[in-house]
Amino acid sequence: MIHRYIFVVGGVMSGVGKGVTTASIGKILQSRGFNVTAIKIDPYVNIDAGTMNPVEHGEVFVTDDGDETDQDMGNYERFLDTDLSSANYMTTGRIYQTVIQKERNLEYKGKCVEVVPHIPLEVIRRIKEAAQKAKADVTMIEVGGTVGEYQNILFLEAARMMHLEDPDHVLFVLVSYLPVPRHLGEMKTKPTQYATRSLNSAGIHPDFIVCRGEQYMDKPRREKLSIFCNVKPGDIITAPDVASIYQIPELFESEGLSSAILKKFGLRQKPGDLLEWNRMANVRETAKRTVKIGVVGKYFSTGEYTLSDSYISVIEALKSAAWANKARIEMEWINSEEFEEDPKRLRCLSKFDGVLVPGGFGTRGIEGIISTIKYVREKKIPYFGLCYGMQLACVEFARNVLGKKGAHTVEVDETTSDPIIHVSPLQLKNIRANRYGGTMRLGAYDCELKRGTKAHRSYRTNPTYAGSIVSERHRHRYEFNNDYSQAIEEKGLIISGVNPASGLVEIVELKDHPFFVGVQFHPEFRSRPLRPHPLFNAFIKACLK
Ligand code: GLN
Repeated sequence: MIHRYIFVVGGVMSGVGKGVTTASIGKILQSRGFNVTAIKIDPYVNIDAGTMNPVEHGEVFVTDDGDETDQDMGNYERFLDTDLSSANYMTTGRIYQTVIQKERNLEYKGKCVEVVPHIPLEVIRRIKEAAQKAKADVTMIEVGGTVGEYQNILFLEAARMMHLEDPDHVLFVLVSYLPVPRHLGEMKTKPTQYATRSLNSAGIHPDFIVCRGEQYMDKPRREKLSIFCNVKPGDIITAPDVASIYQIPELFESEGLSSAILKKFGLRQKPGDLLEWNRMANVRETAKRTVKIGVVGKYFSTGEYTLSDSYISVIEALKSAAWANKARIEMEWINSEEFEEDPKRLRCLSKFDGVLVPGGFGTRGIEGIISTIKYVREKKIPYFGLCYGMQLACVEFARNVLGKKGAHTVEVDETTSDPIIHVSPLQLKNIRANRYGGTMRLGAYDCELKRGTKAHRSYRTNPTYAGSIVSERHRHRYEFNNDYSQAIEEKGLIISGVNPASGLVEIVELKDHPFFVGVQFHPEFRSRPLRPHPLFNAFIKACLK
């Protein structure tokens, strides 16, 4: 089988949407009947994204096989509707670790191991392995960072070497930024010209330039870029800001991008179909209803940009579920510390159709979250708790319904009288030994649903989740303490999902409440634009009632 590769690199600055561009190009090729996979390369020395602060770095996206990866992997999964694995993610740290390990194992047979070519060769080996594993016609590879910087140079070197080896099957896309300085009111092409030259100096010439900017690019600028960057005008793609990232595949198709790529690859021009996708992407425009969700947690006080990146999968899962129910969604982010300062402010929660508490770590803002949960439980406002949001729902229930006033998670209070959320013996060993990287309960685990529960009914609405055992992705260190199972169930907090192998509690739900569900896992990682997660779907349905 012939594998083809498209490298996506960024010019001028970061944050212009390389990830979404990569995912969207993958999507349009997939829509034309090709098998597509995607790889993210992060230039960091970290082995994975798990040890990076989500406020600075964005969400940690967890794969089925338990890899803690970059949020762009979530975009790939959502756009391509596919499950990726650790084979689709690499960092500088990971590459060096492998090369050093091979050297220790004498696998280089006495040779001097050098940065070039041994590091790029390991990058290439991984890229090809991922392509083979996915049986991909086309593999999208997003190189993190920006051209011209020091960090990603060895990855560009790998790309150059792959092109040298097989020029007909390797393409390069430069995603660049075209600013419109306010005092000029005109789109400037110079930074992109420089970016192209930097890329040229790495021995790479872009086949396509995707021009990000606030506006559409006009003809004169397209022609200018074409001459200065040595790329045909038809291969310069305008990518202005759009209302929804899901409209980008359609935008690219209006520029004829997939046909141009197939032509360069010598692939057959099979007919494309983006109909259903585009309908989803444009549903907001026709939706008549609006659902208002309050998201309560910490990490919210650092400004719009960071916040939406830290919870991107949750946001996308909420959106997809709302759209599937033909509703528009409004989300408001509430810092739980506000409720600690002034409990009266809890009343603001009544204006929402539903409240969600996403995952999190540590002690900050926790009491505010617990009061939030008490409020929505008593006021019967639909509640969905993800991971920490489930654990804290159990703490709240233990304190205020079971009357165990000192109940807590040991994450916050190690000496609590009632450790309703505790640490499993395996995790205790890790914590004591300071082993924090890649040691949480990570990746997909089975969850057996209890018949007749809300959780069971919700999953049953979605044919992807047939049967009473579902698989969901995890990322946490602490667990529900089964010593309290009987007590909570007797008082109406039902355990509706359990891991059959370990007996660990996966889902809890309140009996007499429109919707009060907490899940130990992260359902947001499995939600897809055209197949919203059944629990998100059920939550939104309850909110719309
Ligand atoms: N802090 C909790 C734990 O480690 C929850 C983690 C999460 O929400 N992802 O168990």
